[in-house]
Amino acid sequence: MAWLALAGVAGAEGGGRIVKSTSEEDGTLAAKRAGMVELLRSHYGIKDERILDAMTKVRRHVFIPEKLRMEGDPYGDHPCPIGLGQTISQPFIVAYMTERMGLKKGERVLEIGTGSGYQAAILAELGVEVYSIEIVPELAEHARKALAVEGYDKVHVLTGDGYKGWPEHSPFDAIIITCSPEEIPQALVGQLKDGGRMILPLDTGLQRLVILRKKDGKVRQEDDIPVRFVPMVRGKDGK
Ligand code: SAH
Repeated sequence: MAWLALAGVAGAEGGGRIVKSTSEEDGTLAAKRAGMVELLRSHYGIKDERILDAMTKVRRHVFIPEKLRMEGDPYGDHPCPIGLGQTISQPFIVAYMTERMGLKKGERVLEIGTGSGYQAAILAELGVEVYSIEIVPELAEHARKALAVEGYDKVHVLTGDGYKGWPEHSPFDAIIITCSPEEIPQALVGQLKDGGRMILPLDTGLQRLVILRKKDGKVRQEDDIPVRFVPMVRGKDGK
């Protein structure tokens, strides 16, 4: 597989209200969503029907702040700006990272980089317990609202530094990092259960996805496809 999956970097300002769309709009957008899922299935080879169902159901456009929503196509095969220089990942990358984690219902999953809240909603649809950390307070607030409006009120969103993880709710069955660190965050490896797995876009000059699997206290590392994500920034205390 040789796709360059773009999470992208954009500079538009975001924020704003979350408005439910009319049923007529919903019809058009549902058709676009079906097209997006068809591409995931036929072109990108995503096979997990639970993920394809979740992506058919979750209204991706609602997670993009209203004033940025129609600037790009929310259902296009690319990332979209969500304001404050951040982006919602390309649909393929959301599907792919989720698929590679092989999640089972009831598992506990930590996401680093809540962003729009879209990946968190997909995880919630899969019946896993979702904990998600976002370092930009305005984005965390927007994601919380979008998740609540769409009925994903069981998703826990923390405003904070993902490098520290969420020790109170660890250990996790899976950790999905959706921003790019230069080193594997060791605190997060420590918060993985035995049998747990983690996927992250590691930046060693070139960015690629890396999958870690913890078994009997040992961690195995597997390199995966090239990607491009926004950087994982350090919190104010620099830890
Ligand atoms: N998963 C998101 C896309 C994330 S974009 C979605 O579905 O929309 C990457 C996000 O990571 C940005 O919102 C950025 O603010 C956040 N981020 C960057 N560094 C972080 C850190 N140290 N801890 C938590 N979030 C971080």
